[in-house]
Amino acid sequence: MNYRCAHRWAFPSWGGALQERADELPAPMGAEVTIRVTHCGICHSDLHVQAGGFDMGGGKLSSLERAGTRLPVTMGHEIGGEVVELGPDAQGVKLGDKVIVYPWLGCGQCLVCERGDEQLCTRAMRNLGIQLPGGYADLVRVPHAKYLVPIGTLEPARAATFACAGITAYGAIRKLDPLDAEDAVAIIGCGGVGMTAVALYSAMSPARILAVDPDPAKREAALAHGATLAFDPNAPDALRAIAKAGNNNIAGAVDFVGSESSSSLAVNLVRRTGQVVIVGLFGGEFRMPLPLFALKSLRITGSYVAGLHELRDLVALAQRATLPQIPLDLRPLASVNQSLADLAAGRVVGRVVLQP
Ligand SMILES: [Zn+2]
Ligand SMILES: [Zn+2]
Repeated sequence: MNYRCAHRWAFPSWGGALQERADELPAPMGAEVTIRVTHCGICHSDLHVQAGGFDMGGGKLSSLERAGTRLPVTMGHEIGGEVVELGPDAQGVKLGDKVIVYPWLGCGQCLVCERGDEQLCTRAMRNLGIQLPGGYADLVRVPHAKYLVPIGTLEPARAATFACAGITAYGAIRKLDPLDAEDAVAIIGCGGVGMTAVALYSAMSPARILAVDPDPAKREAALAHGATLAFDPNAPDALRAIAKAGNNNIAGAVDFVGSESSSSLAVNLVRRTGQVVIVGLFGGEFRMPLPLFALKSLRITGSYVAGLHELRDLVALAQRATLPQIPLDLRPLASVNQSLADLAAGRVVGRVVLQP
């Protein structure tokens, strides 16, 4: 295989279909590394990237183009593969190592990046799969060897999903206070990320998990992966039924949808002093009566992926503990357009992982 020519599936216009192209790669410089991609998970946020931005509510759209993202875009940020080429200063990995790639790169120099939270960089994002070419390709160039995490004995397809679904779920549930078996937590939205959160949280906390999703197949899968009970948010009287099942003692609600209705459900479900963590990027506006902040002593926080250190923690946790496994759906890379369409239509249970 020629490691200086990447075959990438990229979209040449916002909202357009992905097309295969061949791009030459220069020799790796400095601490750069080339990865031969063996697995790349498809994330729901790719639908927003392909569309060009996020729904900010009130008919407003954020724009990746205005924020500096250039066409064509090769998406794919859940990258797993093998090290095939090293720059002269690349350290900590060797040829043939099986790794996953931390994709949420920032400038690497601002105070937030220096503290290890590059995903929240205050200057210039360099995310793989958005600003830099990602894993819907046979080769990926990674700017520095420090962004590679060896997967050890983990299954490569599953480990790849840790780079977004895994750390997004892990970063969000780590924001919840430690809870007891009498407490309950609502996990709203049981797609790939929400399902991972159900699985991880059941391994990390004794609290009861109330899974919420309109799709019966996803509710079924959530019950099989650690949820105590599962609910359809569109059922009549859903709010009261979920609150009652939590003995009116729901201490936290994690919203993996991030829509107007899901965030409103989360705020209404939690007890006084409850925590709401908003993760999903579905879009819209958040509205709630202001007196509720004080009257319920509510805490509302956002959570956006997680740091490189959290990816390392999660890989270590997965090697120590047997985590419940979310369903994976392995498909060839060439099915990427169909797979994105299936995801948009809600026809995917668990995670699609592409194999170049
Ligand atoms: Zn993602
Ligand atoms: Zn930065």
